[in-house]
Amino acid sequence: MSVLEHVSFDNHEKVLFATDETTGLKAVIGVHSTASGPACGGCRMWSYPNSDAALTDVLRLSQGMSYKNIMADLPIGGGKSVIMKPEGAFDRKALFEAFGRAVESLNGQYITAEDVGVSPDDMMAVRRSTEHVVGLPEGKAASGDPSPVTAEGVYRGIMVAAERGLGKRDLSGVKIAIQGAAGHVGTYLAGHLAKAGAELFVTDINQDGLEKLKAEYGATIVGLDEIYDQDVDVFAPCALGSIINPDTIDRIKAKVIAGAANNQLATREMGAEVLKRGIVYAPDYVINAGGIINVMGEIAGDFNPEWVKGKLDGLEATLGEILDQSNNEGRPSNIIADEIARQRIEEKRAAKLGKVA
Ligand code: NAD
Repeated sequence: MSVLEHVSFDNHEKVLFATDETTGLKAVIGVHSTASGPACGGCRMWSYPNSDAALTDVLRLSQGMSYKNIMADLPIGGGKSVIMKPEGAFDRKALFEAFGRAVESLNGQYITAEDVGVSPDDMMAVRRSTEHVVGLPEGKAASGDPSPVTAEGVYRGIMVAAERGLGKRDLSGVKIAIQGAAGHVGTYLAGHLAKAGAELFVTDINQDGLEKLKAEYGATIVGLDEIYDQDVDVFAPCALGSIINPDTIDRIKAKVIAGAANNQLATREMGAEVLKRGIVYAPDYVINAGGIINVMGEIAGDFNPEWVKGKLDGLEATLGEILDQSNNEGRPSNIIADEIARQRIEEKRAAKLGKVA
């Protein structure tokens, strides 16, 4: 396993491998950039087959956080952490306390929060070892579950993308397929879309959750793999990454792809394939920033719902600019978003260095 030569290594400022024999902790923390402020991004716990898979995930995810945070114009950099889920029984509290010690060793250069497989209670255990943690269920500025705000941002992003891809922002009668519809974000998103009059086609591993969406919103339940073949206008991936790939792209009939999942495109090159097929793609890290925007209030120690709303307006404007540039220049929206993000990070880095000098 190489790190500096790794295909997903992007001049990350720091990559910390943290282990603790007593608790079984095996974690990797990726600090991609602190140009705009402390690197902030969630901690994911997953059953990775090996440390190479964990490293790949943390390198990609932490870079994505830098891009997401700068596009939302937040005064934080990008980072992420992954914990390799121990096999068999383990003391969860002790594991997260040990993880907190690793976070603490970075002296505030990385601020953690929850991500897939990690709960607010786990973050309370982290809090016993470090102050550099947000997404707590209690406390002065606790921002609570970020999913509703993420869903609202994705909902607004779908309207912006629909304006370009379907010629109308109004979603009444628009057919929308949601992958991961029973998840935290998926459920809230389904609520927004149903209220707007959209016709929903939903899939998830969680059948009970799907039944609720069927009862509440008249959603049509489809199979896990069938979701790609639906005759819909919009495809909203809200479960897994890398689902836009050579195996799925020709099955997608939607004219718009816009959802919450991170790293939806299996590779950057898939953006060109999407564009070639006349599909409008809303770059994931632009429209799923609602959660981190929500958490930002907690980092600042002053949670303000009005500020959050203003940031969501900004998210809509940024997405509109990216999609218009993509259309005008005939270039993929993901590439344009990456270029803007990189340029903004460079400007912040230069300004920071200038200050030090
Ligand atoms: P979640 O775990 O609550 O929801 C994911 C859902 O996907 C679950 O219901 C799960 O059963 C389902 N799922 C898993 N495998 C599936 C498959 N093969 N086919 C269909 N469904 C499948 O997670 P979440 O918090 O709702 O996040 C969803 C996605 O959005 C993730 O990729 C996450 O990284 C991203 N995201 C979430 C937030 C947030 O605020 N929660 C913010 C930004 C990005």
